[in-house]
Formats: sequence, structure tokens, C-alpha cells
Amino acid sequence: MGITKDLDVLKQLFSNLSEADKRAFLRSFTLNENIRRIATPKEISHCLHCRSTHFVKNGKENNNQRYLCRTCNKSFVEQTGTILYKTHKSSDTWEKYIECMLGKSSIRKCAKECNINIATAFAWRHKILDALQKMMDTVELDGIVQADETYTAISYKGNHKHFKLPRPPHKRGTKAQKRGISQEKVCVTCGINLNGLSIAKISNLGRPQLSDLQKVLQGRITSESIFVTDSLRPYQKLSLDMNLKHIRIDSGKRTKGVFNIQTVNNYHSRLKDMIIGIFKGVATKYLNNYLVYHNFVNFSKDTIENKCLILIEFIRNTLYSCKSIDISKRPCIPI
Ligand SMILES: [Zn+2]
Repeated sequence: MGITKDLDVLKQLFSNLSEADKRAFLRSFTLNENIRRIATPKEISHCLHCRSTHFVKNGKENNNQRYLCRTCNKSFVEQTGTILYKTHKSSDTWEKYIECMLGKSSIRKCAKECNINIATAFAWRHKILDALQKMMDTVELDGIVQADETYTAISYKGNHKHFKLPRPPHKRGTKAQKRGISQEKVCVTCGINLNGLSIAKISNLGRPQLSDLQKVLQGRITSESIFVTDSLRPYQKLSLDMNLKHIRIDSGKRTKGVFNIQTVNNYHSRLKDMIIGIFKGVATKYLNNYLVYHNFVNFSKDTIENKCLILIEFIRNTLYSCKSIDISKRPCIPI
């Protein structure tokens, strides 16, 4: 066995420790390397319009350094091209908002605390989560990786004004009409490792096929990993394709040797608690955004203060923009 495999087994043994022993062991490991790696301070090295390196400082705009490009003659500020650009709010307001949001405040409460209106608070939430989605797209799982799907009824929450429901609405929290895993259920495919890294996305409706699992997990698990799943058949082919050592837990069983899928099951139940308990249900069209929120806020191992800093830095450094007016025009079922 190579060094990495030994380490993986150690991690699995660790997951079997008592909570007190885990805490004692973890005290020296609080950083989430993969997420921290991308949080670097913003350095302007090229024009944000044409990428020319020939630019000069050119006064200030709302207290932000402005630059003028000598090649394309356009001016820019640090925020150009990011979601922070031209929002007519200070970066302090954004930082405060991110703190409120990572503290799981409702949109109404975030709006009040930051002195912005509710529509703005709603748009900011999804712009920030879109950016977070980009950050989470770079996550690769290593070590012992558990994968499993979870299912939720399609929710058209917030859409009723714009279109007619294809079926009568469910009362919140009631079960979908058809029993079992029907095409009325949204399948969320998830992969997690034991270090607090996670990947989750809506993959399909009903039971997933190989191609559905591939959309979410292909290329996202490093080759030395041990892949632990239940007996659902497509995981077998997926692990072969990805050249992973596969531990398949037989149907009706909870473990195989020292391996289990308890961490991913835990991840699912905490996800449901958050969506129902805190957000009172979320529209399926925004579910992917709440999945990355769950990954980052609930599952990744770091303090909430560090997560705020990491997210603020990431947003400052990520070229991504989205018009507030387009947020609600997203497809009802994003697959
Ligand atoms: Zn330029």
C-alpha cells in the first residue's frame, strides 16, 4: 500500500473515533486547504478589458483606485467585471451582507441589517451564490470519497405568478403524489470526502443513470481515492471509468469492513434540515445555489470568519456578472 492509501485508511479509522477524540485530534487541523488556496489578495496586473499590461493609475472613483489602459484607452476599477461593480453600495455593505448571509439570516433580515431593499438582498444572495458556485467548481475530492444521491420534490416556489403549474401545488413538507422515486423527484447527486470537501448538483429527475452521475462527479475525484457507495449499479461503471478503487456496500447493509456512507448520509440530513428548517423550502431553480451554500457554510471545515474572508476575496477576484433582472428568469428545473 502506498502512502496515500495508508492515509486514507487512517482517515476512515478517524471517522470511527468518539466525538471527544476527534476534536482532540482535529485541534491542529482547521484549515481547508483547497478553499484557502484560491483566496489571494487582488493584484491588478493587466487591463480588465483587453488584458494589456500597459496601464496607469488615474484618480479615484468612490474611493476605489481607477486605472486607465494605454492600449485600449478604457478605464477600469478593481471591481470592474465582478458582481461588486456599479452596485452603488460600498464594499463594507457587501462584506456585511456576506456575513449576514453566511450567518443564515433570512433575506428580510439581511436587507434590514445592511440597509438595502428586499429585491436587492434577493439579487445579491444569488449573485454571491453564483460566484460561490464557481469556487466550488474547482473542488476535487480526494482520500475516502463517499457518494450517494438524495431526492426532493420539484418546487415551483415563487414562480406562480409567471406560469401555470403542471400539477396542483403540494403543501410544503408533504410527500410527492407517486410513491418511490418517480420522475416528479429531483435527484441531487453528491460526493463528499472526510475532510469537509463536497460536491453536489441536481443531476436529473428520478433515479440517476451513469450519464447523470458523470455530469456531477466525472473528473472531480482524484485517482488515488477510495470510492464508497451503496449498491446502485451505475456507480460501478463510474468507478471503473474513473479508475477508482470502489467499495460497494451491499443493499440492506450499512457498512463494508471499516467503510460506510454515513458522512454523506449525514450531509443529506443536514441539507434537508437547512432547506426546510431555515429557508422554509427553496425553489428547484435555485437549489444548486443552496447546495453550494450548504457545502461551504455547513460542511467545509473552517471558521465562519475565515469563510467570510475567503468568499469576499474570491468575489473580488472573480470576473463574473449577472443582471438582477435575469435571476428569476432561470429555468424552473436546471438540468
Ligand atoms: Zn485595455
